[in-house]
Amino acid sequence: MSNKSDFSTLPAQAVIREVGLRDGLQSIPTRVSTAHKCEWITDAFAAGQREIEVGSFVPPRLLPQMADTAEVLAFARTLPGLKASVLVPNLKGAERAIEGGAHLMILPLSASHAHSLANLRKTPDEVVDEMKRIRAARDAAGSQTLIEGGVGTAFGCTIQGEVKTSEVLRLMQALLDAGADRVSLADTVGYADPHSVRELSEQALKIAGDRFCCGHFHDTRGLALANVYAALEVGVSRFDASLAGIGGCPHAPGASGNAASEDLAFMLQACGVRTGIHIEKLLALRAKVVGWLPGEPTHGALWRAGLPKTAQAATAAH
Ligand SMILES: [Zn+2]
Repeated sequence: MSNKSDFSTLPAQAVIREVGLRDGLQSIPTRVSTAHKCEWITDAFAAGQREIEVGSFVPPRLLPQMADTAEVLAFARTLPGLKASVLVPNLKGAERAIEGGAHLMILPLSASHAHSLANLRKTPDEVVDEMKRIRAARDAAGSQTLIEGGVGTAFGCTIQGEVKTSEVLRLMQALLDAGADRVSLADTVGYADPHSVRELSEQALKIAGDRFCCGHFHDTRGLALANVYAALEVGVSRFDASLAGIGGCPHAPGASGNAASEDLAFMLQACGVRTGIHIEKLLALRAKVVGWLPGEPTHGALWRAGLPKTAQAATAAH
């Protein structure tokens, strides 16, 4: 290993939370079978991934790709040490997450009023009210499922344009006050840049401390990895990423998916940040998943040339 971490200000370790099965698959028309989803989770686990967002409890008529989330969650729970999360748009979804024993449920909130109405059919403050109901339901059930409030369109919005930092922070605080165990920031439409990420992350850490738990960056304009790096530098150490960068957003024309998991794992390893991920195994899984998505756009760079020799040596030394 290099001794880069000795003089780096970066965290010694970071978590890549895989969201390809949710954010990725929900945005593309090709359906992946339940068996393939379970195979994806098995291989991701074998490659060292320990946090996976396995689906979304939304009405199947809206997102048929997510109709098997309960089954996929039940499978994910059989892998020891894997933390399985699900997205829940409302109390009804949260009740299914609690019933299914998800380790974590994420309630998305759009800081952009316009995006919130278009995407969730609720104002941001109505989503805060839903958080209160979800927290009450979780506590009444005696459930261990953690609740994350995900503040989306935190860096701008394709419909509304500017989203004020003060509004993002107000809603983050409101989610915590309403009972969220933790909060995260999402650049849903790829408007963030390293400077804005650093600024907003610093302020979010001031509000939430280590309850600000995750950064979610889309690579629409090619800055997802740079944005991760900016957040790392101020101490954020969990990031959502999507294998092969699959995904997009129905309200963001030309959007691409999240940071590609395999590229992010490579960048972190190269910077001396431990992830526990075996990159070659992840690349093998990438090839498999791409094979299940014929004709769908996929992203990322590492798969083209593979790991450099220097990185292979570092992997072997672990
Ligand atoms: Zn997203």
